[in-house]
Amino acid sequence: MNLERNEPHLYKMKAILGVGLCSNIYIIGDKEITLIDTGVGNRSNRLKPVFDKLGFRLEDIKEVVLTHTHFDHIGGLVEILDGAEPLVMIHENGVKELEESYRCRISTLKDRDLVETDEGLLSVVYTPGHTSSSICLYDKERKIMFSGDTVFPDGGFGRTDLPTGDSNKIIESLRRLSTLRIDVLLPGHGKPVLEKGDDDIKKALILAKDYSPRP
Ligand SMILES: [Zn+2]
Repeated sequence: MNLERNEPHLYKMKAILGVGLCSNIYIIGDKEITLIDTGVGNRSNRLKPVFDKLGFRLEDIKEVVLTHTHFDHIGGLVEILDGAEPLVMIHENGVKELEESYRCRISTLKDRDLVETDEGLLSVVYTPGHTSSSICLYDKERKIMFSGDTVFPDGGFGRTDLPTGDSNKIIESLRRLSTLRIDVLLPGHGKPVLEKGDDDIKKALILAKDYSPRP
């Protein structure tokens, strides 16, 4: 999905929407590429054919930012590491898990770190709740949020019943996200939201508060 076709200010950003349970993959830039998440890496979600179609090369992936450690977001690393040597960036709480499965150059992220891309800076917003390694990435200038599995379109939010999940923490994370100005919401699953993304986040906050069991 060429995001630019819908919104000219999303020039040089593309979305590969996951098939099945696979995560979305976002491509930023065209020569020194930053990838947000890698998908699950199964037969239906190979990266190479999409890159071929776009005229991109896997070896031009300069960095990979992982929004958390779930396999449907990081499994595609196998294919990428076969053809490229990117710097793989992940929140410090996810480093150990990543190291257990992949041999790659790792850069550790924490809240408010900046990630440099071909299209400008992305600020790391630490958003625990779905997992303890969950981050979102925020382009403040263009009001774009890559939301991983923390927020989905139309008020969806990440499940918190998997290991390291925490339903109170996801409410705090959604509360924090709801204070930011967001037009474009680029979630880990589902279709990108191209305007008024902050409405989706506010809705998610209300629904998450309602979902949590109360004593
Ligand atoms: Zn997940």
